[in-house]
Amino acid sequence: MNLVLLGAPGAGKGTVAQELVAEFGVAHISTGDLLRAAVKGGTELGIQAKKYMDAGELVPDQLAIDLVKEPLAADDAQQGFILDGFPRNTAQAVTLDSELSAMGREIDCALLVDVAPEVIIDRLSSRRTCRACGYTGTAADATCPKCAGEMYQRDDDNEATVRNRLDVYEKSTSPLVDYYRGQGLLKSVNGDQARETVYGGVKEALGL
Ligand code: AMP
Repeated sequence: MNLVLLGAPGAGKGTVAQELVAEFGVAHISTGDLLRAAVKGGTELGIQAKKYMDAGELVPDQLAIDLVKEPLAADDAQQGFILDGFPRNTAQAVTLDSELSAMGREIDCALLVDVAPEVIIDRLSSRRTCRACGYTGTAADATCPKCAGEMYQRDDDNEATVRNRLDVYEKSTSPLVDYYRGQGLLKSVNGDQARETVYGGVKEALGL
């Protein structure tokens, strides 16, 4: 399984990825998670990236591309990987194709988790994430239902930043739906359903 997850911020890509990883043991490569770890660690990359992330803008392409090269080449990605949040525009998608082809590999599916923008604004304003295990829950979760860890609200999950992230998605990322459709790789699932129903649809779409 060499999978690209497509969908607006808050569509549920991270949740789908976590479920696939738990069931199939493939590598989960999330550029958002890698960037947040760099910000938390105070690295040079994190310092550079933070201003873009806080504004809901994309970090420069080269920075995102450099970030995925190592995890893509790592041992645990050789049996398959799920790219979550990358590529975010056509330039990144083209670079990904050529990096993979240099490794003798290719994407075998791009799965769109499809959710309408008005649903996203409500979802993201109440989204809470577990600091310990990364579980995605809501404001109703006082602690993480999976590991009892502390739930927090991401800095970029406030309404103003969410609106900009959605604009950036529409302009830069949504053209990838046609890019992968053109390659015959696009599959889609309705992401505006209960978590288990979405995951059932994902497995059906992927023929799993
Ligand atoms: P995410 O967790 O995927 O919603 O990403 C959070 C933020 O990280 C985004 O709003 C961007 O600022 C940045 N980011 C994540 N992935 C990329 C990427 N592939 N290209 C550029 N910026 C990215």
